[in-house]
Amino acid sequence: MVAQSFITQTVQRLSVMGVPVHVLADYSDWLLTRLSNRQGSHVVTLNSEMAMQAEATPELAKVMQQAELIVPDGAGVVLYLRLFGFKVKRCPGIELSESLLKKAAEAAPPLSVFFYGGAPGVTELAKRKWQSKLPSLNVIGTEHGFHPPEAEAKILERLAKLKPDIIFVALGVPRQEYWIAQHRSVCPQAIWVGVGGSFDVWTGQKNRAPGWLRDNNLEWVYRLYQEPWRWRRMLALPQFAYRAIQDRLTQGLPSS
Ligand code: UDP
Repeated sequence: MVAQSFITQTVQRLSVMGVPVHVLADYSDWLLTRLSNRQGSHVVTLNSEMAMQAEATPELAKVMQQAELIVPDGAGVVLYLRLFGFKVKRCPGIELSESLLKKAAEAAPPLSVFFYGGAPGVTELAKRKWQSKLPSLNVIGTEHGFHPPEAEAKILERLAKLKPDIIFVALGVPRQEYWIAQHRSVCPQAIWVGVGGSFDVWTGQKNRAPGWLRDNNLEWVYRLYQEPWRWRRMLALPQFAYRAIQDRLTQGLPSS
């Protein structure tokens, strides 16, 4: 548990197509303050594809409404908010997770961390990579994400017993969001983060887009180049851009 308390931050509550987006100065500090107050958190890292999915799927929209923190991860989300006059900075989920890992290692005593999801071997490798980078990091357990459904009860029992402070869940969108919402009661005071393919990036199975593509809001181009089979999923992007313009022309400013 974190001993130090942080300065209270103002949370700006915005909305992208009905999905809440929270904007604040330091996301990881905010989460650690909640942790030290024994308040659990579900973190969603929102991109345009997810916003479209949430609009089409009331069950997913409900899960997102209940998440304590939804960060503007995707460039599309940031551009949407800029259309409405909100100058918001991107908070890529992978960077938020890295910041949490560093602060978890620096805490006295170090916070405990659990990695769930990813391919067999990759999850364990992610743990080893981070522990060699941050020797004081306390990764108290890992489980890959390809167990048969009947193994899930054991994983949940393990989590309930270990009570990690931070649980990273890499099952892909939207499965990880549903999974966290369904099971977070086993560790109600933890920080639960849906991290998508972050374990793959940390272990070198995949690369993040180069900085110049990220800086020009073109991370999706690199994603398509690296994983061309995603093209169908990515059709949501032009639809999102169309919706953004339509919303700007027909609506007032999103609620804050
Ligand atoms: N994954 C998993 N179990 C599954 C399906 C996927 O653990 O049944 C993992 C997969 O190995 C990968 C992550 O979920 O590490 C999904 O990564 P992706 O980049 O597709 O995430 P998204 O784009 O959906 O956020």
